Amino acid sequence: MADRNRRMVLAERPTGMVDESTVRLEEVDIPQPGAGEALARVRYISIDPTIRTWMDDAPGYLPPIAIDEVVRSGGIVEVVESNSEQHKPGDLLFGFSGWQDYVIASAANGYQPLPDGVSPTLALSLFGITGMTAYFGLIDVGKVKEGDVVVVSGAAGATGSTVGQIAKIKGAAKVIGIAGGPEKCASIVDDLGFDEAIDYKNENVSARLREAAPDGIDLFFDNVGGAILDACLAQLALRGRIVLCGAIASYNESGTGKGIANTSNLIIKRARMEGFLILDYFDRLDEGRAAVADWLGEGKIKSSEHIVEGLENAPDALNLLFTGGNTGKVIVRV
Ligand code: NAP
Repeated sequence: MADRNRRMVLAERPTGMVDESTVRLEEVDIPQPGAGEALARVRYISIDPTIRTWMDDAPGYLPPIAIDEVVRSGGIVEVVESNSEQHKPGDLLFGFSGWQDYVIASAANGYQPLPDGVSPTLALSLFGITGMTAYFGLIDVGKVKEGDVVVVSGAAGATGSTVGQIAKIKGAAKVIGIAGGPEKCASIVDDLGFDEAIDYKNENVSARLREAAPDGIDLFFDNVGGAILDACLAQLALRGRIVLCGAIASYNESGTGKGIANTSNLIIKRARMEGFLILDYFDRLDEGRAAVADWLGEGKIKSSEHIVEGLENAPDALNLLFTGGNTGKVIVRV
């Protein structure tokens, strides 16, 4: 075991993308576990767009990461030394590990075992925050039903790719994914079973939505916000639903950004637009995981993961989410 803990702390609040001045790599002593605690080695770090929002000094659903604080993130850790009856060396746990090599893990600070029989990367993807966000957002908030025309943005990403597949499983009449670039568009149709893809980087999204969903969109699952949300608002069907999951197009912006023009269509179409946070579903994760396990076993759903090697590459891994350099769930293997 190394005798020092490498950790990445927030050095400066970013404007725009994270760069070399945003995060500082430092070494400190490895923490010592107290009574009832375990020392654990961080093995995998979950890279999520929300980490970028926590770097801003702005109100959010969790407090901002403080300057000089370890960058907050979920992670999978392996117990290496334990003073707890609950954890023994070799146990894998999920918790808010942050961007570092070692953590003190205990049930009291939120560390939980992985779902039975699930690999660490699947525990962060299909069975993790993004998979469960897709499941509850689509089923509970969006109330997806048979015959729906479903559109999802960020469709080749971790959440979006899962949303599209679950929509097909639930009997959607047509699933249309919006993603950046011809390769991602081909892959969601050919590999994941979407019916159609719109390449927002090379096509006119509004015109393509009118072609692909001529009778309107019953359910739009939005990971992106901005112009794509506006285009989908304009193409809603009667009693359409919009699930506001994320607004990644604005996370690197300061200020209020551009407004949305087409909200009056919510009135005309008697439609509903609702935001949600997966945090509110933490007491129902077993339900979502059981469904995903069945679909995985039946070969109805696939996970796609984008692994980046090395703790020191976590800032670059975060930026992939904003350049679109990832396909599927971004995970750093420490
Ligand atoms: P992801 O989709 O795997 O990666 C982000 C993707 O967003 C990129 O691959 C990129 O794909 C796309 N993107 C980035 N900037 C864009 C822009 N300006 N316009 C259009 N597309 C853009 O990430 P994820 O972890 O699954 O998260 C997806 C969304 O869900 C995020 O908005 C996140 O904040 C949200 N989320 C919400 C909750 C919740 O509780 N509500 C929980 C988890 C995640 P392209 O190559 O297609 O551009």
